[in-house]
Amino acid sequence: NGFAALGLHAALVRAVRDSGYDQPTEVQGRAIPPALEGADLRVSSSTGSGKTASFVLPALTRVLAARNDGKRREKGIVHGPRVLVLAPTRELAMQVSKAAVTYGRHVQGLRVATVVGGVPYGAQLKALRGPLDVLIATPGRLMDHMASGKAILANVEMLVLDEADRMLDMGFIDDIRHIAEQLPPQRQTVMYSATFAGHVGRLASELLSGEAQTIDV
Ligand code: AMP
Repeated sequence: NGFAALGLHAALVRAVRDSGYDQPTEVQGRAIPPALEGADLRVSSSTGSGKTASFVLPALTRVLAARNDGKRREKGIVHGPRVLVLAPTRELAMQVSKAAVTYGRHVQGLRVATVVGGVPYGAQLKALRGPLDVLIATPGRLMDHMASGKAILANVEMLVLDEADRMLDMGFIDDIRHIAEQLPPQRQTVMYSATFAGHVGRLASELLSGEAQTIDV
């Protein structure tokens, strides 16, 4: 199986196989190995390329690694998610959540929460109060939850910006900067965008380490 060869955990290889995939797509083959090593990435690839799995599988690897380290959450103490994914629209965020649940189906007790605009706060507040592994959000609604002190981001190890160019087109630049400032500085950051020209490129140089790798599919 081509996914096992990339160094993915057996639980994730099994889930990918459940979905009927045996071979990684090009972006998966190129982005997953450096992402698993913790590298910052600047990835240009379009929808339909399999890009979602290329960041969801490394994200779930972090969740599994934390479990195996025995760093279990103490009862009653909420540490917040290890992985934060920002996406431009509710639809895209829901798609990423679905992929996280699908590829995480064999990860015991995986907790994924989705925080998007245009829907009531109640269920989101409940999800944010409990222990969480992966948080997927649109920037505006996440900012609301941060302002009210409900979103804890102090434990984020990996930040993913999906369709960064679209997020900037939608005017989220200040929100993204503000959110990134609240995260631990030693985190891994991976950015996906159709282009890294202009203001997306500038944001990338702000958020990514100097050693970030560029993957152009
Ligand atoms: P995305 O580019 O992430 O929107 O994915 C596009 C479609 O490709 C989705 O329906 C995925 O389920 C599917 N897909 C993801 N990985 C693979 C793979 N390795 N082989 C075939 N299809 C895949």
